[in-house]
Amino acid sequence: MEKNLKQLTNRIHYLPHDSETDRPILSAICGDDETLIIDAGNSDNHAKLFLGVLNQNQIANYHSVVLTHWHWDHCFGTNQMNLLTIAHENTKMHLEKMMEYDWSDEALDNRVEKGLENQFCSDMIKKEFGENRNITITLPNTTFKDKYEIDLGGIRCVVKHVGGDHSDDSSLIFVEEEKVLFLGDCLYPSVYEQQPQYKIENVRHLLENIEMFDAEIYVLSHEHPFSKDDFMGYIMLLKLICDLTEKHQRNHSNLVNELSTQLNRELSQLEEEIVFCFINGLSVD
Ligand SMILES: [Zn+2]
Repeated sequence: MEKNLKQLTNRIHYLPHDSETDRPILSAICGDDETLIIDAGNSDNHAKLFLGVLNQNQIANYHSVVLTHWHWDHCFGTNQMNLLTIAHENTKMHLEKMMEYDWSDEALDNRVEKGLENQFCSDMIKKEFGENRNITITLPNTTFKDKYEIDLGGIRCVVKHVGGDHSDDSSLIFVEEEKVLFLGDCLYPSVYEQQPQYKIENVRHLLENIEMFDAEIYVLSHEHPFSKDDFMGYIMLLKLICDLTEKHQRNHSNLVNELSTQLNRELSQLEEEIVFCFINGLSVD
């Protein structure tokens, strides 16, 4: 488990993701006057760990915490953070719904059975919290519809709502001075459907939004940060699969064959999974 703070740029630090209990990356953007935190973590322990390592590195003067979207792993640490919390208005709406939930094993299993909760999240919540499930959901203090700008002193952050298949409230954070774009989970497929999905038109729209920001480093919450070259490769792959899904529709073998020909190699497991998500996302008519 990664417990040390890493430096992304001169003024941005982060605690790496931890797949053991699906902890996302938590980041701190340090302005001359104030510090912005991105995402609150998946539990009190996760939030405490992050605040602890920031403290060890003399990082303080918090402006607020911005939530990239409402999923548990990004929000359950909000209460422990105890800071001004900024999020998209839909993030607040989803969290309000979640406040009514019971987090016992029985209640979780029940929601998985009804399709209200995803099996993976349920397993990870049980693993992160163990028996002692002290989950307090805290609502954002400030919400926005399209965009929110924060001046930390010598460094400005733009929070922009982009939505997408993963979650309708997904927002990204762009730090122009450092040329870093924080994407949260917005590029991942939906997780609350029966099968994970990508819809061609949603992915295209999302990529258009992302390409408006000129960054050098791209941060996805559950991976190591991407260089521009690697990220552009990923974007090109998604665009290519959009085009090939549009062309071949549900004909999986033709789709895979043409993709493999264009890439001039066998598909990786990730690429196979992406193709599967796009086929799932085709509308039934
Ligand atoms: Zn998510």
